[in-house]
Amino acid sequence: MAEDPLTEVSRPERCAQVAYFTMEVALVDALPTYSGGLGVLAGDYLRSAADLGLPLVAVTLLYRQGYFRQEIDEHGRQSEQPVRWSPEAALQPLELAVGVEIEGRSVRARAWRYEIVGATGWRVRVYFLDSDVEGNEAGARSITDQLYGGDGRHRLSQEALLGIGGVELLRALGEEEISTFHMNEGHSALLALRLAEIEQDKRGDAALAAVMAEVRRRCVFTTHTPVAAGHDRFPADLVAAVLGEGRTTALRQLGFLEGGQLDMTDLGVGCSRFVNAVSRRHREVTRRMFPQVGVRSITNGVHSVRWASESVGRLFDDYLEGWRRDSSLLRYAATIPLEDVAGAHRESKSRLLDEVARRTDADLDPAALTIGLARRVTPYKQTTLLFSDLDRLRALVNVAGPLQVLCAGKAHPRDWLGKEMIEQLSEAARALAGEVTVVFVENYDLELAALLCAGSDVWLNNPAKPNEASGTSGMKAALNGVPSLSVLDGWWIEGWIEGVTGWAVGGADEGDDSAGALYDKLELAVLPTFYGDAARFAEIRRSAIALNGSFFATDRMVREYARAAYLL
Ligand SMILES: *Cc1c(COP(=O)(O)O)cnc(C)c1O
Repeated sequence: MAEDPLTEVSRPERCAQVAYFTMEVALVDALPTYSGGLGVLAGDYLRSAADLGLPLVAVTLLYRQGYFRQEIDEHGRQSEQPVRWSPEAALQPLELAVGVEIEGRSVRARAWRYEIVGATGWRVRVYFLDSDVEGNEAGARSITDQLYGGDGRHRLSQEALLGIGGVELLRALGEEEISTFHMNEGHSALLALRLAEIEQDKRGDAALAAVMAEVRRRCVFTTHTPVAAGHDRFPADLVAAVLGEGRTTALRQLGFLEGGQLDMTDLGVGCSRFVNAVSRRHREVTRRMFPQVGVRSITNGVHSVRWASESVGRLFDDYLEGWRRDSSLLRYAATIPLEDVAGAHRESKSRLLDEVARRTDADLDPAALTIGLARRVTPYKQTTLLFSDLDRLRALVNVAGPLQVLCAGKAHPRDWLGKEMIEQLSEAARALAGEVTVVFVENYDLELAALLCAGSDVWLNNPAKPNEASGTSGMKAALNGVPSLSVLDGWWIEGWIEGVTGWAVGGADEGDDSAGALYDKLELAVLPTFYGDAARFAEIRRSAIALNGSFFATDRMVREYARAAYLL
């Protein structure tokens, strides 16, 4: 990659060198083919790749029902509705289809294209594979119906389409010069099997070791979570039923069916020349999981232009010329007058509170310390920790000042414990009525995330360590001058300076993150600063921007991948 991205785009359009495969991607609201952090990260990453003129294409699937639209009843019970959207309105159809052998029949998939236009006009193309085409029988048509829906058979069929179909698609498009296949998590790892088959065909009777060396030369793998649910494993008989005997035999010969199952992370890792985790702490955790692999780390980021609120974007335009092309310039936020930082945030907050009041009829106080508590709801995220001792919470509010909490997040349709947590949040809201305002806003999505991350006063995150590989919503908050109150896990270990960029909950050790530590920090540090020292709080906002907004950004991240993983 050239040092100056501006010179990159004058280059003629040419074949991609990197193909980025991802099960989900969050590009715009009109494309609901994402569930949460993984897809949002992919979307931000691809935008920055376009901004920087990277020769990259992306492959994903087109889910006609999206993930789901969340509805919450008065008891806090979640129900799921299909998302209604029209691919025709958001994507360009291509006159092109690929076939993949799935469950003994040829499944055809058509492709749709979305073009991301970068800051200087460079285009990154994203291809969506869609099995809902005429000629496929009903079972085949529904392979791409829903993201993370269905059983293991459905999931493996989707992953076969993504990995194997994705490689076929790129060949059909004439993208022959791809030197790097980047697997964004294990879902697409079957692409390596398809590359091995192609290599084998090319070499005739070449030894397996030589074929695999070539595959490994071309693949890069990013792992995104140490949590078991993030690593798909399929029993060998299901693999045989979905992929067929030939491919099952090949996987067995390659050693990927050991223990009677196919582990997609093992497959991806085992077929890659470069494997990385998404924060420094996550690298340590991943090294314990894969001691035989030299795992590297590239810390995640967010797309600064996309996530800066309107008022914060204007503030940066006024003081930090060039930040839209280079987020490292946010470092100079340290020179912005504090009253302007506070003013920009006040506008973000008022937009958030107006929107929440409009959606929920909640009675919100613009002067009250507002905590943002929003992300996927699942046990390891411990979303209900703040409400584990309501008397303690009441007592600290009486001493230190009012508090309002804005919650949002979806639980996977079969994550019963996650769904229960949403019910507990609504119970807590009822129990605290009149003392602490707690509002659950349904259907967490890109738009709501942008409002919450920018408009809250403090961003709360207290997952069980060491399960948060990175986390990105705190980065969106920091960019907008919203400090984090977070356990020391994931990105926060790298972004945290106590009392300067935000606050830690508990210490560095695992298990050391109790509700008591959270209440203490709120009572003794966060609330007194907010109500007692507005100038100090504005300074913390400014430092969050200067120290964290300037680094936890996808343009920095894409540059790191280009240098270390893609060798561009
Ligand atoms: C950023 C984002 C996430 C990821 O949040 P984490 O804090 O990393 O868990 C999830 N969902 C949406 C809609 C987001 O914008």
